[in-house]
Amino acid sequence: MSECVFCRIVAGQIPSTRVYEDDLVLAFMDIGEVNPGHVLVALKPHAENLFALDDAQTAAVARASARVARAIRAAFEPAGLSVYQANGAAAGQTVFHYHVHLVPRHDGDGMAFTWPVNNPPREQLEAHAARIRAQLA
Ligand SMILES: [Zn+2]
Repeated sequence: MSECVFCRIVAGQIPSTRVYEDDLVLAFMDIGEVNPGHVLVALKPHAENLFALDDAQTAAVARASARVARAIRAAFEPAGLSVYQANGAAAGQTVFHYHVHLVPRHDGDGMAFTWPVNNPPREQLEAHAARIRAQLA
């Protein structure tokens, strides 16, 4: 038996409340938080973080997340939806299955923050952006 909790959930060795499943993705609600629309959308194969995903895995997680998000909207009629991800050892995770949390937001939920947070110099931002664009070319 696998030692990985998520592999055991995928295999059905640990019960879970599944809301969506395909070849690459499992989405379930057994997360232990109070928000009734909170769904975890996870990749079935091991992939520590976004760096490790191939294009098919990336597309599968995005497609499943959008489908589940539409279902959450239909089910709970939230004002909005937040998507969180914090994966890999650097984020303190011990289960290495890339995943996102879909969290419905309702009017009055506290999500306020200012933008930009620390107002870095524009030229610094442009230099950083140029380096990223160069890698995408
Ligand atoms: Zn696993």
